[in-house]
Amino acid sequence: MSLDSKTPSGPLAAKWDKHKFDLKLVNPANKRKFDVIVVGSGLAGASAAASLAELGYKVKCFCFQDSPRRAHSIAAQGGINAAKNYQNDGDSVYRLFYDTIKGGDFRSREANVYRLAQVSGNIIDQCVAQGVPFAREYGGLLANRSFGGAQVSRTFYARGQTGQQLLLGAYQALCRQIGLGTVQMFPRTEMLDLVVIDGAAKGIVVRDLITGEISSHAGDAVVLATGGYGNVFFLSTNAKGCNVTATWRAYKKGAFFANPCYTQIHPTCIPVSGQHQSKLTLMSESLRNDGRVWVPKRKEDCSKPPGSIPDAARDYFLERKYPSFGNLAPRDISSRSAKEVCDEGRGVGPGGLGVYLDFADSIKRLSVNVVRERYGNLFDMYEKITGENAYEVPMRIYPAVHYTMGGSWVDYNLMSNLPGLFVVGEANFSDHGANRLGASALMQGLADGYFVLPYTIGHYFASSKPAKVAPSHAEFKKAEENIRQFTNRLLSVKGKRTPTSLHRELGKLLWEKCGMARNEVGLKEALKRIPELRQEFWKNINVTGENGELNQALEYAGRVADFMEFAELLCLDALERRESCGGHFREEFQTPDGEAKRDDENFAYVAAWEYQGADKPPVMHKESLVYEEVHMSTRSYK
Ligand SMILES: Cc1cc2nc3c(=O)[nH]c(=O)nc-3n(C[C@H](O)[C@H](O)[C@H](O)COP(=O)(O)OP(=O)(O)OC[C@H]3O[C@@H](n4cnc5c(N)ncnc54)[C@H](O)[C@@H]3O)c2cc1C
Repeated sequence: MSLDSKTPSGPLAAKWDKHKFDLKLVNPANKRKFDVIVVGSGLAGASAAASLAELGYKVKCFCFQDSPRRAHSIAAQGGINAAKNYQNDGDSVYRLFYDTIKGGDFRSREANVYRLAQVSGNIIDQCVAQGVPFAREYGGLLANRSFGGAQVSRTFYARGQTGQQLLLGAYQALCRQIGLGTVQMFPRTEMLDLVVIDGAAKGIVVRDLITGEISSHAGDAVVLATGGYGNVFFLSTNAKGCNVTATWRAYKKGAFFANPCYTQIHPTCIPVSGQHQSKLTLMSESLRNDGRVWVPKRKEDCSKPPGSIPDAARDYFLERKYPSFGNLAPRDISSRSAKEVCDEGRGVGPGGLGVYLDFADSIKRLSVNVVRERYGNLFDMYEKITGENAYEVPMRIYPAVHYTMGGSWVDYNLMSNLPGLFVVGEANFSDHGANRLGASALMQGLADGYFVLPYTIGHYFASSKPAKVAPSHAEFKKAEENIRQFTNRLLSVKGKRTPTSLHRELGKLLWEKCGMARNEVGLKEALKRIPELRQEFWKNINVTGENGELNQALEYAGRVADFMEFAELLCLDALERRESCGGHFREEFQTPDGEAKRDDENFAYVAAWEYQGADKPPVMHKESLVYEEVHMSTRSYK
């Protein structure tokens, strides 16, 4: 089977405009005849639901939190990229496109990335119009800062709370539609299955998380905006609720899962402090604008107070190894460098798993007030967690799982291989290749929701004229019954282990065998161990409480059950990709100086996995990545 990306023909810069013209339209009076189901109310889901409703479609929007405002997007800190070139420092749509393609280590689809850069400026205009309080210069113009993998300042921000402010903007737009009756909002409602009838997505089955009631919702299209699956590693910077359930269950209904092994490890997180920790905390990449990363040159100095180590005895390893990008080298490269110095025994803090992020020079140069103005909330957060004042001593940071580039396979229209199933935001695989650059997830989620899907979904309706089905259809009833059985099964095991303990064990295994570095032996061990762990899960899980009440242990257990299956696909994908690229670092494939060694001849493709059944190995389909515009060069940030 060959995967058709539906990438339009013609010159790269003209593709999206031409495509928009070629897309069929739905007459305004007909739009209200189409029902759209949007699962997720983070930046991607809220922007999509609001925009589709504004166009006139009838939208139902679902989220598992008590309010759309609590989607994980609220946690995004550092900023959102856009090629406005307000700084006059050489930015352009082409440069943002090129940086993103290169940042993704030449493993993303060229046309998607170009479109993302093209619409990036519109996102800022849209958000400003909504009242998003971006930081401004003294004269009133919007301010910018730099993020990794770029030599220009193109990141728009609202202190360290950019995601929160953007989500409040999207949420307002969503609320306007809820008020108008064009969006029906279903909080505390979890999608547990996708319903496919005659090969097309026709609706979802959900569980009311307060009453336990299972019900069906039919629609002409289903949009998944359900975020990333970084929590498969247990410890990550993601909100605790982030999970893989929606895209995984869609996968089991035929929607291909692309590049599951592409995981992003973020270099600047607060190090793990103990066995019982339940999550990790990001220190925004924006801090690397003014913070310098270092470790002692000599192992013997690692236990000394940092202030007592003179400059000459410090190794500013990012500045040394990557002089052109310095502390703003991309995340995958910075993370590996931190691991490397810690592996050499030069790490600092408990267990030697930490490096310093030091603001002393910036405080001297700019004053403590300027640093506080830029990053005050991040310094406060750091102090609350570690008890240390980072204005006085350097922060200690270590890489942690942060984002997932893999996700449901989608074509240029953001539609999966199942007609009528669209996937947007972090839940799809589309734009970041093997490594996402900082501040580009918010850009992609909002590009998808505000500026791409509203065009492409109409084309699907106008060109395929989907047949209506009712939630009383036998397929819905079958899916409802399966979910009831699944829920009862979880509650009836009554074993000895909590969902947390099994999840923690899975996460540790993945981090050790398929984390920042992977190799064939380790991956094979993980692939042997995961099915055993899955068996243990179904034999020994203990889910407390009942079904007909708010039961977060039950919700969580269902998500862990999916992680137990998904982890295997993640490792299989990592095993099959016998090259290193971006965040996927296979130890067997590296250059003499320890950089990722790509194999473009054999691996310049998107791996899209097709489910074959519970006991059969999945089949991999390949979408070749053809670069018409850029040359696939070896990445260098030196
Ligand atoms: C700590 C942190 C800081 C970050 N900072 C930045 C930054 O500064 N800049 C940047 O560009 N990116 C940043 N990112 C990445 C960025 O925040 C995410 O990629 C982005 O917010 C994802 O948005 P989304 O809309 O795709 O998904 P989410 O915001 O995760 O929303 C998912 C939605 O889906 C719903 N959902 C999920 N599953 C189901 C289900 N089965 N049934 C019903 N509803 C479901 C949830 O309720 C939620 O509403 C950061 C990430 C982290 C972890």
